[in-house]
Amino acid sequence: ESTPAVDGKRILLAAPRGYCAGVDRAVDAVEKALELYGAPVYVRKEIVHNKFVVETLSARGAVFVDETDEVPEGARVVFSAHGVSPAVHAQAAARNLATIDATCPLVTKVHKEAVRFANDDYDILLIGHTGHEEVEGTQGEAPDHIQVVNGAEDVDAVQVRDPEKVIWLSQTTLSVDETMQTVRLLRERFPHLQDPPSDDICYATQNRQVAVKKLAPHADVVIVVGSANSSNSVRLVEVALEAGAGAAYRVDTADEVDPAWLTGATSVGLTSGASVPEILVRDVVDRLKALGYTGVEEIRTTTEDIMFSLPKNLRADLKEAG
Ligand code: SF4
Repeated sequence: ESTPAVDGKRILLAAPRGYCAGVDRAVDAVEKALELYGAPVYVRKEIVHNKFVVETLSARGAVFVDETDEVPEGARVVFSAHGVSPAVHAQAAARNLATIDATCPLVTKVHKEAVRFANDDYDILLIGHTGHEEVEGTQGEAPDHIQVVNGAEDVDAVQVRDPEKVIWLSQTTLSVDETMQTVRLLRERFPHLQDPPSDDICYATQNRQVAVKKLAPHADVVIVVGSANSSNSVRLVEVALEAGAGAAYRVDTADEVDPAWLTGATSVGLTSGASVPEILVRDVVDRLKALGYTGVEEIRTTTEDIMFSLPKNLRADLKEAG
């Protein structure tokens, strides 16, 4: 999409941006579950890390809980896109809960890698953020074999049993450049450190970073739409700054855009994290237009066509219901 600017003031819109296939599937799973089974449908943790999505689904009858013990015995619970540890599956089974697992298949892939290398008795260095749900889920697959490395600052403290049998894995939503820097430091300590069998940082995270990197040098200010607990959204702000944006800010919604940020800015870059619905980006475009940024230029670095089918048991129930 492109519209010329009236006086040179323009929005540079990154593409790809917003919803990835894993988020789309997880949100769709909750919506379909609400339609099929009726409210309430319990959801463990935020289905995806976006305030607007969580509020919208709550209004429709989704009940968000922190842990499965808050779900009534026998009720239905959806597991979020970030994945859960085997212990959570066991707790749900013990409480007789009907589960719909909306874990993104690309997170499941990392879980499988963790299990495989733990079975081979490797020390696994999981690069990611302590406390993030995805990291907790992956670590829970093999707690005795996995240690979390938050970044360069953790490298010196890493201890392994056998430096010949060490592999790194990662959270799916990190900064690619920063992660590779951490890997370089780890490899200085452990020259035999193995790489994951395939990229753990997912296609959507990578594509959104590449797109914002391309527009950042041309943007006086970059605005990233995404929630504070959305790892990939926060990374987009960092990547934009590193790639040369004059300034970069994260907002949940358009009303958080502070006109003072735009003082003297001709070009405003705009993107959104993988958990952000396009309507929130449209709202920011409208707000920027009202502030004089009448030109819109989309800067696209690739086209995505990945889609994931709904969780199997939900698909089967939907089919049966016709
Ligand atoms: Fe899956 Fe990547 Fe989206 Fe996370 S960001 S849900 S790993 S596609």
